[in-house]
Amino acid sequence: MLPITYPALLRSQCYINGEWVDADSGAVLAVTNPATGARLTTVPQCSAAQTRAAIDGATLAQRAWRQRTAAQRASVLHTWHGLLLQHQEDLAHIMTAEQGKPLAEARGEIAYAAAFIQWFAEEGKRTYGDVIPSPFPNSRVIVVKEPVGVCAAITPWNFPAAMITRKVAPALAAGCAIVLKPAEDTPLSALALAVLAEEAGVPAGIFSVITGDPRVIGAELTSNPKVRKLSFTGSTAVGRLLMQQCAPTLKKLSLELGGNAPFIVFDDADVDAAVAGAVASKYRNAGQTCVCANRFLVQAGIYDSFAAKLAQAVGELTVGNGAEAGITQGPLINEAAVCKVEALVADAVQGGAKIVGGGYRHPLGGTFYAPTVLTGVLPTMRVAHEEIFGPVAPLFKFDTEAEAIQMANDTEYGLAAYFYARDIGRVWRVSEALEYGMVGVNSGVISTEVAPFGGVKNSGLGREGSKYGIDEYLEMKYINMGGL
Ligand code: ADP
Repeated sequence: MLPITYPALLRSQCYINGEWVDADSGAVLAVTNPATGARLTTVPQCSAAQTRAAIDGATLAQRAWRQRTAAQRASVLHTWHGLLLQHQEDLAHIMTAEQGKPLAEARGEIAYAAAFIQWFAEEGKRTYGDVIPSPFPNSRVIVVKEPVGVCAAITPWNFPAAMITRKVAPALAAGCAIVLKPAEDTPLSALALAVLAEEAGVPAGIFSVITGDPRVIGAELTSNPKVRKLSFTGSTAVGRLLMQQCAPTLKKLSLELGGNAPFIVFDDADVDAAVAGAVASKYRNAGQTCVCANRFLVQAGIYDSFAAKLAQAVGELTVGNGAEAGITQGPLINEAAVCKVEALVADAVQGGAKIVGGGYRHPLGGTFYAPTVLTGVLPTMRVAHEEIFGPVAPLFKFDTEAEAIQMANDTEYGLAAYFYARDIGRVWRVSEALEYGMVGVNSGVISTEVAPFGGVKNSGLGREGSKYGIDEYLEMKYINMGGL
């Protein structure tokens, strides 16, 4: 079994209104380890009625939670934050077992997940309103911020802890209650977070975790009029569907959707730094992040040297079970993910691209795929338009800055973009020209709880993290105080 010191973190039941429960029907879903194929445990396949019960419980509990002061809520959140750090090692083992990322990355994600709790505990104290100069002598114009009420969250498997705290922490800090449906591949991290929330003193009903069929639970979360907000991280296709499902009850929405990040390397870049940034951006989590570089656009003058250095660095990555020491790349999440990567590589090769590293299923078998670099990739190939979500770096060539910008923006997505350059004029021009919510300049990793994370175009709506992230869980109320 898993090498954890606090077995209570590993749950096979859902957490609804402060109670650990099975599905009404007794039905379960298996949770497996993608590195070994071994079954870890099962989780309940909850019903629409159980989802409704969680929403009803949240509605009741939120009335008292919103009455607490922000400092009182912060105190609970700070305790929860401390418990995540106290159990960081166990939480990392649970995450690696169900998700596959190397332990070092899992430990990092727990620290990142905890950071959102700490950040929003503090931001909750700063949800200031306004006093606006009144146009009338006998009244005052006041704006106050109030919690939106009961919220729902649907989260993906690639960051099984951080995508949850990034939503739950601001919701709780703002005085909301939240019902979470985690991804079916990674429910164990979500349930472990609920164990610690309960221990921290989060009241029953304020944070419930429901596992099961996404369509059944999603239908209830999106149609129930008591839910006033939905925050979703996942694919653009599912985001669109959920937005449609929320339309009849006009819920507030935050959508963090797909990306197609360009990573531009200009002739004046520090090539070694660009290679290091490229490896961090592309191969972290085996390429399975929504901000992973998807297209490398490299200027003609340094194309060959960048390709050679990248292929060499990628050849040094160590593939294997993330629970073992020294592994830098784990398996992909499932067979469908490997099939997609294989199909994208085959399409590029058929169109004339050249494999200069990897390009095959790893000999370890299962869902392991060798870290891959492709050169001679053209904008007509599928990798130019589709999110790869795997360890494949396709290298496109360009001549001018204008051409790079045009290629970079030639996508329906607008989440993250990266570029390496030293010329200060170019740095400003390109930063401003990129149609993206986030831009990494001479940096391949941009995620932090202090900065606003989110996209434009088909990459979604709203921002998470930063001082802006709590606004997603607040409504403004204008009070005209007359009769003075
Ligand atoms: P990915 O392709 O990365 O798995 P998805 O968008 O399919 O991304 O999944 C992200 C989250 O959305 C997961 O929690 C998944 O269970 C959920 N999900 C998928 N389809 C639906 C649906 N029809 N209704 C509600 N949630 C869904």
